[in-house]
Amino acid sequence: MTRHVAIIGAGVVGAISALEVLRDGNRVTIIEPAEPGGEQAASYGNAGWLSSHSVIPPAEPGVWKKVPKYLSDPLGPLAIRWRYLPKAAPWLFRYLRSGWTRAAIEKTARGLRPLLENAPLLHAKLAEEAGVAHLVERAGVLHVYPSREAFEADSLAWAVRRKVGIEWLELDSDELRQREPALHPRYRFAAMVEEAGRCLDPGAYVAALVALAEARGATLVRTRATGFRLDGDRLAAVLTEDGEIACDVAVISSGIRSKPLAASLGDKLPLETERGYHAMVEGFDIGLRHAVMVSDAKVFANPMANGLRSAGQVEIAGVDAEPDWKRAEIMRDGLVHVFPGLPEKLPPEKVKFWMGHRPSMPDGRPCIGFARATKDVVYAFGHGHIGLVSSARTGRVVAQLIGGRNPEIPLEPFDPKRFL
Ligand SMILES: Cc1cc2nc3c(=O)[nH]c(=O)nc-3n(C[C@H](O)[C@H](O)[C@H](O)COP(=O)(O)OP(=O)(O)OC[C@H]3O[C@@H](n4cnc5c(N)ncnc54)[C@H](O)[C@@H]3O)c2cc1C
Repeated sequence: MTRHVAIIGAGVVGAISALEVLRDGNRVTIIEPAEPGGEQAASYGNAGWLSSHSVIPPAEPGVWKKVPKYLSDPLGPLAIRWRYLPKAAPWLFRYLRSGWTRAAIEKTARGLRPLLENAPLLHAKLAEEAGVAHLVERAGVLHVYPSREAFEADSLAWAVRRKVGIEWLELDSDELRQREPALHPRYRFAAMVEEAGRCLDPGAYVAALVALAEARGATLVRTRATGFRLDGDRLAAVLTEDGEIACDVAVISSGIRSKPLAASLGDKLPLETERGYHAMVEGFDIGLRHAVMVSDAKVFANPMANGLRSAGQVEIAGVDAEPDWKRAEIMRDGLVHVFPGLPEKLPPEKVKFWMGHRPSMPDGRPCIGFARATKDVVYAFGHGHIGLVSSARTGRVVAQLIGGRNPEIPLEPFDPKRFL
């Protein structure tokens, strides 16, 4: 049965959902107030990791012990603004609990693995369809440590990864040097996850996916969704700032802004922003070959189409607070610390900073499933740290739910009702 599906938000989750829903012969309207792939979206500024092994909840083992230190250290990898703390406290408590015990971490890892497995391949196929095959590379990612001992200090996370079927190569100092000569020689050990990949320009990738959806018949409407009109338990229309759009089904894929839309249907879900930053360094070719995570510097580096990007940091401060650009400077300085090929003083005109909102559920698992009020509204948000990599499977599952087919992965870990 052909239906009219409104996709609310054209970040990477909405863009891929639109394409997958189109494949079933549905009519699609994409509602998006800004430029698809533009700077407003988390999908623009992320680190570009297609890390199918990112199964560990972000509040990784032991983070909770460090919270008092983070509260007092404004430049640590996790910052919590005091003023926002009372509002964030219930979410924060659940967030920390998701990494509290090994059992909790394994539960998340088991849930996430099917969502992430083969994601680099799925993205490579999508990029090819969209005419941007060069933006997705499947050459593995490197987790780099100063020593084997430092790697072993992370052993719980790696043991859980192994338990859910993830494999990696362990590289000693010489092997690491051969694979990645751009790294500072102080790094003497690495785990190479060969199944993972990277995106070389996430914003351009999303723009190309939306252009493909339009070429296949989707209509892009430049407005903001504000709510829904239901007729009993059936969806009649999406309400927007410019009037109603009548449709049969809607998908909420509006990133951090999904929260009020779900709330308008009676579902008060604990979606919080984990604000993140990037520094993009243009004009220096240091010969970096892989996406690299440098453990001690908390640098997620990715050599991209138009520069070297480092993205990361978690700041709990709400959606509306001003960016704290010191956090992006940390990202920039991390690159200089890790890659001796960069000058110690980077010319400011060669560095661009960005801040964005990871749309995060406290347990590190997105919400994918039906609204309680109506099966005509599908939730596809809350992808937190892994929204780029997990968007490919999410889009397929969204189409399967709308088509009344059995989803290809278990959806119980992502059931929005787990919070209600
Ligand atoms: C610093 C940082 C690094 C990251 N690194 C990685 C990484 O390496 N790998 C990875 O997999 N993930 C990473 N992520 C996470 C990833 O970027 C996000 O999870 C993902 O982009 C979320 O995609 P989305 O489509 O849900 O939301 P978004 O990309 O935020 O898109 C939402 C869209 O909805 C639109 N919208 C908002 N409100 C409305 C409305 N009312 N009506 C209509 N449209 C609306 C917005 O304009 C926007 O275009 C990172 C995130 C950050 C911040």
